[in-house]
Amino acid sequence: MADDKDRLGSKLHDVEKAREDQWARQRDEELVEKMRKRVSQTACPHCKQLLVAKTEAGVHMHACPQGHGAWVDEAALKSLLKERK
Ligand SMILES: [Zn+2]
Repeated sequence: MADDKDRLGSKLHDVEKAREDQWARQRDEELVEKMRKRVSQTACPHCKQLLVAKTEAGVHMHACPQGHGAWVDEAALKSLLKERK
């Protein structure tokens, strides 16, 4: 019987662990979401104005309203470079 109790104990432990994992994953997603939002809070290095999110030619970017440049994520940049070839 003591063995059964131990098994139940480890089962409960597994459930607890799974819950923690789920919580950690959720936290990761929240962090990623926060980082994404931070990108749109990025200021232009030239004029310090906040970049504006927009989509041009199907590419999502955050661009300086004064036209100094734009932040494009790496995947989008790579697909752009590939299209040029
Ligand atoms: Zn600028």
